[in-house]
Amino acid sequence: MGGKAHPTAATFDVVNPATGEVFATAPDASAADVDAAVRAAARAYPSWRSDAKTRREVLNAAADALLAALDEIVPILTAEQGKPLAESAREVQTAAMFFRYYADMELPREVLRDDESAFVQLVRRPLGPVAVIAPWNFPLTLAGAKIAPALSAGNTVVLKPSPFTPLSSLKVGEVLREVLPAGVLNVISGGNEAGAAMTTHPLIRKISFTGSIATGKAIAAAAAADLKRTTLELGGNDPVIVLEGADPVRVAEGVFPRAFSNSGQVCVAPKRVYAHESLRPALVEALAELARNAKVGDGSLAGTELGPVNNRPQLERVAELVDDAVRHGATVAAGGGVIDGKGYFYRPTILTDLGDGVRIVDEEQFGPALPVIGYRDLDDAVARANATHFGLGSSVWGEDLERAAAVAERLEAGTTWVNTHTARSLDEPFAGVKWSGIGVESGRWGLKGFTEFHLIHQAR
Ligand code: NAD
Repeated sequence: MGGKAHPTAATFDVVNPATGEVFATAPDASAADVDAAVRAAARAYPSWRSDAKTRREVLNAAADALLAALDEIVPILTAEQGKPLAESAREVQTAAMFFRYYADMELPREVLRDDESAFVQLVRRPLGPVAVIAPWNFPLTLAGAKIAPALSAGNTVVLKPSPFTPLSSLKVGEVLREVLPAGVLNVISGGNEAGAAMTTHPLIRKISFTGSIATGKAIAAAAAADLKRTTLELGGNDPVIVLEGADPVRVAEGVFPRAFSNSGQVCVAPKRVYAHESLRPALVEALAELARNAKVGDGSLAGTELGPVNNRPQLERVAELVDDAVRHGATVAAGGGVIDGKGYFYRPTILTDLGDGVRIVDEEQFGPALPVIGYRDLDDAVARANATHFGLGSSVWGEDLERAAAVAERLEAGTTWVNTHTARSLDEPFAGVKWSGIGVESGRWGLKGFTEFHLIHQAR
């Protein structure tokens, strides 16, 4: 923080989920350490906000620096998160892309009126020091999606990664310290209390958070006391609707990698499939075949497709939800259990013969297990897909594109895909509706979210 390493009095252990063993420790920031980081961000703010040209140069240099350090960051991310090395590399590349993308993006002044009575302009201003709080499933991509627009708009940042994955973010802080002016980005590691201390700090003007709905609500409550701005990207329970007449094998080949990528620990992954009864058995079999053949293992080893679940509580949660479904009569078409041995491995699991009201359908499982629910009446499937507090993503799959697009319009979600799921690009906005979030990330909307408006009305 403040351009230098900052030792803390306490540390905490970091576990490699592929072995279940502690392999490193990380600084455990106290409330005083959080305060020091926020003050460093506040000191850096006046000069950073006032020099757009430097910001552009520095953010492009930050993208270069991240890519140059890729080989150093990737093994750290895999060791603490569990994902295969190639996916860790994609995270670093995506984070770098966010820096490059936002480096040159501007929110131009808008002239709203220019006539004999007035000259009226709308200008976007940065907010000040902002808190960025990230989860453990994509520590670098999600942090990059926030830090890059925050800095580009002229804010300064304090970043706190999840205590399960602190090391890759600390490494990124170390790399970017070489290119960013001191105090512009301050990375601290610590537990949930450190996050809470950020959200109540009087100098923080905005909290940009990605994580669970429960924490999102706690942050919204904390922010309310000081009317801090928030962007909350929260959990999802994305429904997939497979229409009558769809090709079950093609759908399985499309849905499986998107549901099981990152071992299902993706906010916006398919999490419950509603399949027309006429094709459900064939779809279940095709998904089960893919699940049985997926190569599960240590992400640092060549050939691994799916790594471990990131942490023990999450592994236990996935196991609990699958066991609960089985107790309620679900059929296990593939997988269905923890893999014996070291590490937090769970068999890629396909469940069927279950419906709404069972926890794995109603709740976010966030792991490698997917329920497939049969339906006969499309209106009923749409109603069930929408009967939830979640509203992140969703998708409709079918051969008749017009029909699929019409069903897509009826789903309540921030994003609905047709014949794909999770496809995203930097220029598309990303947001959750209902309990899945407040505010928008990505594209020019992501930049706007780190500004507030200033209307200048000049009488003539
Ligand atoms: P989490 O909410 O437990 O933790 C996320 C972060 O919040 C961590 O850094 C944690 O230390 C911090 N935190 C915890 N309590 C806090 C408090 N009271 N005040 C401030 N900070 C606090 O989430 P997680 O388990 O790490 O992540 C998984 C969840 O994230 C899933 O629900 C997933 O769907 C969601 N997620 C959403 C998106 C999205 O873009 N919508 C993306 C990825 C993950």
